Amino acid sequence: MEDCIFCKIAKGEFNTEFIYEDSEVVVFKDINPIAPVHLLVVPKKHYSSLNDDIEPMLLSKLLLTVKKVTKQLGIDEYRTVINTGETAGQSVFHIHLHIVSSEKLGPIC
Ligand code: 5GP
Ligand code: ZN
Repeated sequence: MEDCIFCKIAKGEFNTEFIYEDSEVVVFKDINPIAPVHLLVVPKKHYSSLNDDIEPMLLSKLLLTVKKVTKQLGIDEYRTVINTGETAGQSVFHIHLHIVSSEKLGPIC
């Protein structure tokens, strides 16, 4: 999608370092990390948010990618977050999963 920052990143337009890439997803570091590990799992296909009509296989793929990448990095304690909608904190309207990890992470509520 034109003018979507994550579409551009996924296409390699900014030479972003990918922690992981395959035909459907890319994983890269968040530009403004909130913890020592803060990664974003982003599908190459554009969907605005989790509220879109997303193929179940892709939804499954996104979570499997979280498992694969954290395993590869040797991280077994982490938080996975999907913000959906502005009031819930979504600022980039191309669906993405945050992987956040820090020894200091407390319970979310
Ligand atoms: P959201 O608030 O939509 O759940 O998360 C968007 C995330 O994308 C934010 O944590 C923000 O720091 C990150 N972000 C926004 N623009 C860029 C960018 O150009 N590059 C990278 N690596 N991360 C970005
Ligand atoms: Zn996009």
